[in-house]
Amino acid sequence: MIMNIKELEEAKSVVRNVPDFPVKGIQFKDLTTLFKDAKALRTVADALVEMYRDKGITKVVGIEARGFIGGAILATELGAGFVPLRKPGKLPAITIKKTYTKEYGVDVIEIHQDAITPDDVVLIHDDLLATGGTMLAAYELVKIMKPKKIYINFICGLKDLGGVEKFPADVEVTTLFDF
Ligand code: AMP
Repeated sequence: MIMNIKELEEAKSVVRNVPDFPVKGIQFKDLTTLFKDAKALRTVADALVEMYRDKGITKVVGIEARGFIGGAILATELGAGFVPLRKPGKLPAITIKKTYTKEYGVDVIEIHQDAITPDDVVLIHDDLLATGGTMLAAYELVKIMKPKKIYINFICGLKDLGGVEKFPADVEVTTLFDF
C-alpha cells in the first residue's frame, strides 16, 4: 500500500482545534474527532502500520492515554507486544520513572522495569508531539532497558514548537501530518 496523501489530509481535517484548553493560550488539537471517524481512523491506522511494517518492531510502547489507541493498533498489526507508559501510581509491579516538563505543566511517567529487554526493537508512540518533553522522557526511560533500537512516532506534530529537535540526531522521529 502506498500512503494516500489525500486521505491523510482528510484525516487531518477532522482533528478539532479547541482554543484555550486546558489553559489559556493553548490551541488543543483534539484527536477524539479523528478517532471517532471510521474512515479517518482506518487511514491513520493503515499509514502507521505501513511506515513500520519492515522495521522488525518487537514492542510498541504507548504513552498514556491517547498513545494507547494508535499504540495498540500498531502492536497488533505489526505482530509486536504492547507496553503502557503510565502516569505515576498506576502500574502494579516494580517501575522506573521520570519527571519532565510539558507544554503546559510538569508531569511524571512510569514504565515497568522488565517491560523491555535488550532483544527488543522498540517503537514509542503518542498521539501528538508538542514540546517533545513527554516523548523525550519516554525515550530516556526505554533507553535504560537497552533495547537494540528505538523508533519514535506520533500521529501529528505541532511544527512551530520544534519538539523534534529535542531528540538525538540518530533517532528516527516521524509524524503522519503536522499543524
Ligand atoms: P509535549 O510533552 O509538550 O510534547 O506534550 C505532548 C503530550 O501532551 C501529548 O501526550 C499530547 O497528547 C499532549 N498535548 C500537549 N500539547 C497539546 C496540544 N496543543 N494539543 C493536544 N494535545 C497536546
